[in-house]
Amino acid sequence: MASCVQCNKPLVWVPFQGPLRTGKILAVSGEQPEFPENQETPDDLWLSCGCHWHWDCLFDEAEDIVLSLKCPVCDTHLATNEPGPSATNPVHHMNQGITVLASYTSQHGVQPNIDLLPDLTEESYMKSHPEVVEARALFIMAKNNQVVDMMELLAQAPHEAEDSVTLGLNNLLRFQNPLEENKSLLHVAIEQGHQDTFYILLFLASQLPDDAFPRSVHVATQQSGMTRPPHRPHPDIRSLRDSNGETAEDYARKQGGNLEWLAETGLFTPAKEAAEASG
Ligand SMILES: [Zn+2]
Ligand SMILES: [Zn+2]
Repeated sequence: MASCVQCNKPLVWVPFQGPLRTGKILAVSGEQPEFPENQETPDDLWLSCGCHWHWDCLFDEAEDIVLSLKCPVCDTHLATNEPGPSATNPVHHMNQGITVLASYTSQHGVQPNIDLLPDLTEESYMKSHPEVVEARALFIMAKNNQVVDMMELLAQAPHEAEDSVTLGLNNLLRFQNPLEENKSLLHVAIEQGHQDTFYILLFLASQLPDDAFPRSVHVATQQSGMTRPPHRPHPDIRSLRDSNGETAEDYARKQGGNLEWLAETGLFTPAKEAAEASG
């Protein structure tokens, strides 16, 4: 069996050697992984240079790859398009339509022509910004409507940042992802139509009155031992805008149906406008 150019071990997946890497499952399958027990599953990332890597071994080198756009072992250029003049900013590469194509064989079969650059850029960004690791985890949970996991993570966070590697609850709730058009968690929850998730976010990070929430939200927050943190001086999560200037309310109206109806009730209207409308 072929082996990984980096670690020389067979190209099979060994579970629980470390944290789940960026994109490995979510980008490939869009669903939760099904890990067969006691069974070898392939883990073969085949780059355009011809080198075969384990996903994790390649992603350990993410910072170098997004800057050089070369295979760390054979030094071959991996980008399909030449980087433009401002090639020192990794996020810039993604915006220039540059891709790093590979074929990945996993338990889900063979995925030819997947673009690794967005995931490599994200991995690299996370390594240089350790304080956003929790925020990134929350975004994945919000996308998957993992309310219980979100509550567990949030319940452990201090209300405010205590050091350079902790954002604190209030900043975590309002984090805007620079790798995803500056969307907030609320944008993501509405985009996915996850009602449980956006009610929890509104409960913890908006100025909506307590009686605006379904009983299930009160129960869920009580069970996790959380109370509504004071917002000030933080903004209402509903007032955050993505890089196109759109609020969560704009997203809800675009979604139509029940979300549009909820938007009509003012659920996603930031507090200031709501106060003006009623007064
Ligand atoms: Zn390896
Ligand atoms: Zn190579």
